[in-house]
Amino acid sequence: MSELSRREFAKLIGAAGIASSFLQQPQTTSRTIGIQVGAVSFVDEGVASVLDRFQRDANINALFIASFSYGRGTAGRQVPDQTLPDHGKQEYDVEFHGGNFAHTHEKYYAHTSLKKIEAPDHPGFDVLASVLPPAQSRRMKVFCWYEDVFRRDLEGIDRLQEVTLSGKKASTLCFHNPEVQAFWQALTEDYVRSYPIDGLMWGSERQGPFGNAIGAMHGGARTNPLEVTCFCDFCQREGKSRGIDVQRAVEGYMKLASLVRDSRAANRPTDGYFVSYWRLLLNYPEILAWEKLWNDGQQSAYANIYQLAKSIRRDIAVGWHIWHNNSFSPFYRAAQDYAEFRKYSDFLKVVMYNNCGGPRLASYANSMSRTMLGDFSAEEVLGLTYKVQNYQGANLVELPRKGLSADYMEGETRRAVAGVSSHSAESAPAAKTPGTPKIWPGIDIDIPTGQDEKKTEPQDVRDAVRAALGAGADGVILSRKYSEMRLANLRAAGEALRG
Ligand SMILES: [Zn+2]
Repeated sequence: MSELSRREFAKLIGAAGIASSFLQQPQTTSRTIGIQVGAVSFVDEGVASVLDRFQRDANINALFIASFSYGRGTAGRQVPDQTLPDHGKQEYDVEFHGGNFAHTHEKYYAHTSLKKIEAPDHPGFDVLASVLPPAQSRRMKVFCWYEDVFRRDLEGIDRLQEVTLSGKKASTLCFHNPEVQAFWQALTEDYVRSYPIDGLMWGSERQGPFGNAIGAMHGGARTNPLEVTCFCDFCQREGKSRGIDVQRAVEGYMKLASLVRDSRAANRPTDGYFVSYWRLLLNYPEILAWEKLWNDGQQSAYANIYQLAKSIRRDIAVGWHIWHNNSFSPFYRAAQDYAEFRKYSDFLKVVMYNNCGGPRLASYANSMSRTMLGDFSAEEVLGLTYKVQNYQGANLVELPRKGLSADYMEGETRRAVAGVSSHSAESAPAAKTPGTPKIWPGIDIDIPTGQDEKKTEPQDVRDAVRAALGAGADGVILSRKYSEMRLANLRAAGEALRG
């Protein structure tokens, strides 16, 4: 597909006679009511019928199309160990591959060796070219939703991969590697120039080596402190330019790995866990310096994507998916400074998945009670987390089954709105000024959880949507993907919006 100007595109839409009765439908809200959806749903169910349902059932006015990902979690059908929902093809996509679900225009990829990225999953189907005309004729906005998830078997990817503490190539890409920044620039430019999209949402669900080493995340008990990243040549060069002693950084992380291994083996140091970790940080300030180096790399990706997109089209909306770990780990939360995000964001989709948030927070507490917070039981870590993060929830036994509440949504929404507004939480909603990033909380609809763990019910969705909007959110984004949502839960979002 060649580049289309907006005018040419409008002509195409007109010529296709797509304008439907939906054009006459009054907009019931000026808020952004978004949904994340992958190409597979349009292929399985048909573009028009999916869009009909979104408008009819949930008042959707913005599509966040999983245009680039190697993760089934956002781009595929239901994950194989979960029940298929009551729509779509009743079959698992065990052959899911992923990649760019739009056409890849090679000329933009001159400065990166990662360029063979077109997803082979739906040959001949360009999700943006297929969905943009009918969506825009219905006045639904279209955002490219692309994320920092890769696979190892891609041509040219080895030059972009991070290097772990033990010297292995990781499956993740290094933000201090110029080819990686060039890759994100290429994909961004490709989307913005090739398609008349309304916006971009990029997500990177990753953290630096310190957070990973101590297992400060859900699923953190499985992290290997010897395989944290990144120690590649580019990062070493960046470290030196910051005056960090690279050998000391490596040595500090090796000692941290030993301490984590001892902690997980319940081999308590004489002075206890917390004091021992803190002493290591005092003796090796390079550990936190390297964490900051990693964080700065990720932040530069945000800033570079923003500046490039805006330099091509001023009116395009650019924002970010902020990882759920923001709700669990205070170490990660400290690195997600909403005031900083103001510099390069038009909106933030802050993940506030309250249903799966229960099991995930419990998983975080369990992991941390076996490393840096090893002096505390998991129940005590949970209590500490509630205090530090300023919200409340069930005890450790009940939390995975009950999930987090709508109160959590409300508090986290207020915190985000206040954070980007630079006002106190109390005055935030009225004090917003033009240019303040919009806050669109991510709402959890049927995100997979384990057996006997919290499953989404319609009342949960109604409560979550009302809590977010009541706390001053400018909209919501139903997540993670339509292909895993049950229809009653999708309709519940619409019920909440209609009052
Ligand atoms: Zn690196």
